[in-house]
Amino acid sequence: MDRHARLLTFAFIFLGLSDLLGAQDSNYARRVVCDLASPAMFGRGMQKGGDSIAAEYVRNEFLANGVKPLCDKYFQYFRFPQTRTVPPIVRAGYRSQNVCGYIPGEVDSMIVFTAHYEHLGMSGDTIFPGAHDNASGTAAVLDLARRINQQRGHYTYVFLLFGGEEAGLVGSRYFVEHPLISMAKVKLLINIDLFCGGDEGLMVVNANDRSTTTFVDMLQQINNERSYAADIRRRDNAPNSDHWFFTPECPAIFIYTLGGPYGGYHSPTDTCDGCGLGHYEDFMSLIVTFLQHIEP
Ligand SMILES: [Zn+2]
Repeated sequence: MDRHARLLTFAFIFLGLSDLLGAQDSNYARRVVCDLASPAMFGRGMQKGGDSIAAEYVRNEFLANGVKPLCDKYFQYFRFPQTRTVPPIVRAGYRSQNVCGYIPGEVDSMIVFTAHYEHLGMSGDTIFPGAHDNASGTAAVLDLARRINQQRGHYTYVFLLFGGEEAGLVGSRYFVEHPLISMAKVKLLINIDLFCGGDEGLMVVNANDRSTTTFVDMLQQINNERSYAADIRRRDNAPNSDHWFFTPECPAIFIYTLGGPYGGYHSPTDTCDGCGLGHYEDFMSLIVTFLQHIEP
């Protein structure tokens, strides 16, 4: 046995298999964040069709992760209702899309994960990379699909990656007005937006509603026992991400990280390099453990 093999054996015994798998999971998220925040995506807005390039990327990850289409070829198209002259600069009538898929379970009752994959696009020659906002949440939702596909559950899992968020929740509003799922069958919707960093833990928005409070209690209880996040804080509902238009229809919460590191917010400095994923595996473990608790 050479030195390298001995070290590997030691690593297996010492860390255990799950930790090694965990390291792999963070690598997956890093790749997705860096791909989506790369100059080839042009900030994932209308300019140079960056939103459509990113949507195609998300669809390919769905295919690779065993996610089935909720609508024809995964894309639900919508048009922007208004022209905007500040980033995200967009023309009224411009067509973009949500990317919608699912992994079937034993029952049609659903757990739904959502995130917006699009971002501010470009202003002149300046690209807004949007690693934290929201390549990171997109990576987390795609990663959850990847894990759930390996270990099918009782519930049907739905994955909705929205466009048009930065222009005023345009894509998620369109989905709620033209739903591809039965809202009455949604047990819980979890929206993830701003998922780099997290030195200070996690915030849960719409945590105190009658329909969501017991779920958030459970998240906090798991975290008290296992310390995955430095803290889990609660907020009342706010129209600050894609959970908003769902909240009258089904139980829906929005999770974002507290504290850095991340490269910036709505700034050209929000790059992949600035996106800290040091807590990512712990946050994934928290969510997966939570899912195991609500699975019967
Ligand atoms: Zn966002």
